[in-house]
Amino acid sequence: LDPSKRNSLQRCICDGDLVIVYERHDRIKAVKVQKGLDFQNRFGVFKLSDWIGQPFGSKVLSNKGGFIYLLAPTPELWTLVLSHRTQILYLADISFVISYLEVVPGCLVLESGTGSGSLTTSLARAVAPSGHVYTFDFHAQRATLAREDFERNGLSSLVTVSVRDIQGEGFPEEFCGAADSVFLDLPQPWLALPSVRKMLKQDGVLCSFSPCIEQVQHSCEVLTSGFTDPNVRLIGDMQQLILDIRTFEVLLRTYEIREERMTTSEADHESPVGPMRKKRHCTPHDVDDSQGERTATTVTARPCQESRGHTGYLTFARLACS
Ligand code: SAM
Repeated sequence: LDPSKRNSLQRCICDGDLVIVYERHDRIKAVKVQKGLDFQNRFGVFKLSDWIGQPFGSKVLSNKGGFIYLLAPTPELWTLVLSHRTQILYLADISFVISYLEVVPGCLVLESGTGSGSLTTSLARAVAPSGHVYTFDFHAQRATLAREDFERNGLSSLVTVSVRDIQGEGFPEEFCGAADSVFLDLPQPWLALPSVRKMLKQDGVLCSFSPCIEQVQHSCEVLTSGFTDPNVRLIGDMQQLILDIRTFEVLLRTYEIREERMTTSEADHESPVGPMRKKRHCTPHDVDDSQGERTATTVTARPCQESRGHTGYLTFARLACS
């Protein structure tokens, strides 16, 4: 997970490495490789010493001939295996947040609450090597556990965890005007917004995650009041304004991808984008017309039944000067 060791994806597994053990898409686990220990699952027993020296991505066998894959840890995989101490953000939201918060290497990012550190881990990779994420949670034990995770994952130089009530006290004054981006995942984010405005650099961006629309409405009312707030901060003769307030609802839809064989008559193929392709939205891989009929292997995508749907609302706003 340490971004300075990004080329580690190509290297071989060493004693002490964190490995993501992949059985299938819903059975993934983080395992620390230690000589002399075993990993056991329903496929049998795997000797961890056998994994040392194997390249990441290898398929390894158990004593009963069952197999698993040994994957290199990435923030994406960490989100799937971390221990849940709170609700967490998943990749649909994380990728959106990082892109619309404009987090790039060198950025200073403020975050609250830290929770289980799912988003923080991806933020750390995005700001590396020269930026930093300062993350705050008012729950001391959660902050301690998150700090331990970041240390174990080699992220200590990129992330600082502190205990602080951000809704009550706001972010520390030392970050005034220094933050490129601020992210909030708090129950009453509007209470933190006056402080966020003080922390953001000119052109800095805020994102607030809320599971329900009432929280979004309350936050947006506070954000828009920035236009008329008599306490608005003045830089020289410029007035700082909160602009570009936009809320997105993130709806997760998983698609099941299948390869299917289908047969069509010659007539269907008069046009290069004939009925077969139009109807199925498919890409033919393989065409055989020896029988007067054509058989094509196509890839189809259907929405999965168990799609989780709504994850939450993401409200973005930018601090600008008039
Ligand atoms: N985004 C995190 C992740 O991806 O792992 C999950 C955040 S969790 C849903 C919300 C966190 O906010 C909790 O850990 C909670 O302790 C913290 N929190 C709630 N109120 C807070 C406050 N006033 N100040 C700081 N942290 C707070």
